[in-house]
Amino acid sequence: MIGDGRAPARSGQLFWQRSERPLRVAMLAPPWIPVPPPGYGGIEAVVDLLARELHRQGHEVTLFAAPGSRSEAEVVEVLERAHPDEIERSLYEADHVARVFAAVDRAARAGRPFDVVHDHCGFTAFAMADRISTPLVHTLHGPFTSETAAFYAHHAAKAHVVAISYAQLAQAPAGLRVAGVVPNPIDAADWPLVADKQDYLLWVGRMTAEKGPHRAIAAARLAQMPLVLAGPVQPGQERFFEREVAPHIDGERIRYLGEVAGERKRQLFARARALLMPIRWPEPFGMVMLEAMVCGTPVIAFPEGSARELVLDGRTGFLVENEEQMAEACAMTGQIDAARCRETIVRRCDVGAVARAYEDVYRRVIDERPPAGYRRVIDERPPIGRSLVIDADHGSLAGRRYAVSAVDD
Ligand code: UDP
Repeated sequence: MIGDGRAPARSGQLFWQRSERPLRVAMLAPPWIPVPPPGYGGIEAVVDLLARELHRQGHEVTLFAAPGSRSEAEVVEVLERAHPDEIERSLYEADHVARVFAAVDRAARAGRPFDVVHDHCGFTAFAMADRISTPLVHTLHGPFTSETAAFYAHHAAKAHVVAISYAQLAQAPAGLRVAGVVPNPIDAADWPLVADKQDYLLWVGRMTAEKGPHRAIAAARLAQMPLVLAGPVQPGQERFFEREVAPHIDGERIRYLGEVAGERKRQLFARARALLMPIRWPEPFGMVMLEAMVCGTPVIAFPEGSARELVLDGRTGFLVENEEQMAEACAMTGQIDAARCRETIVRRCDVGAVARAYEDVYRRVIDERPPAGYRRVIDERPPIGRSLVIDADHGSLAGRRYAVSAVDD
């Protein structure tokens, strides 16, 4: 069905009339780890939830992903094997993306074109997005560095981007075609709410200085509380782990569980007194914060990157400046209401709302290049606002500028 029957036009801006027909979405996962991820894998977890939910909401989703991937959406395994130990090797990313672009072109030639490619890969698809006729939406999963900002600035015209936090967007180079800020999703039904906490602090992540497992150890010692650490030691992280983390592990006050997954991981989050996030980098999102809070577990974080947006100081956790303050906050977790913690996250990041936000993004991006059968109409502004899409104050779509509307807590 073309059109949503909205009355045209008072103030006279041009846009393409919105269609409510289901969309054909090519979801492009990275080539490294299957979807859903067996353990560590933030992007793959996001892609999994989004593909499933868009499918559930009636869209035709084809998930292009690493072998071993499963989804209720259609899955196309692109390469011959996954590459968990070769993350960011361009050989595999280029191979993966080139094969997907060929499939996207084949679908168009066969008369069943995708409406949109939703890209979660590193850089290849974004840089080559003008080589396919299907519009491409690229979710920004990483922080901007001077190198990546230059890359995005150079290729900005080729695709639309979605930021996952305002903190991330604040670092974006000028000229990016920002289609919205959409938080990463979580399915609350997958996570238990536990109000009765056990006597341990939790840290979950990659073993890097920026994520701060060594600072979590220092804070837990100051708080005189046991700490559980979980996360993989990825290639290149061995020295940091051996020097900064391993010497402190005693199996009692400081325990290290390695990589965790499934029910064990969920219980770990749900029963912890608090999740510690002593980050020292502009964390673009931080799924572990969502995972803790949806279980009713407060997050005690340094105010870096997205932590300022995700943690509501005094309501879902605490924002603190250093290890000493973190230790003090560990004694205050009783002030945080577990149910409220969960409710805040559900309201902002539940997968149903996030999928609808992405649907809005897709339609607006598609509308910019209307397929045959669409018609131009006049209206006040595009039909946004029924979801979590928040227009970037310095972004523009089709040359229009929108106002920022913050998420209301
Ligand atoms: N994770 C996991 N097992 C581990 C450590 C991490 O499943 O042992 C998951 C964690 O639950 C989260 C993701 O990996 O979903 C990490 O995502 P986050 O955004 O927190 O960090 P980053 O993407 O920067 O590594």
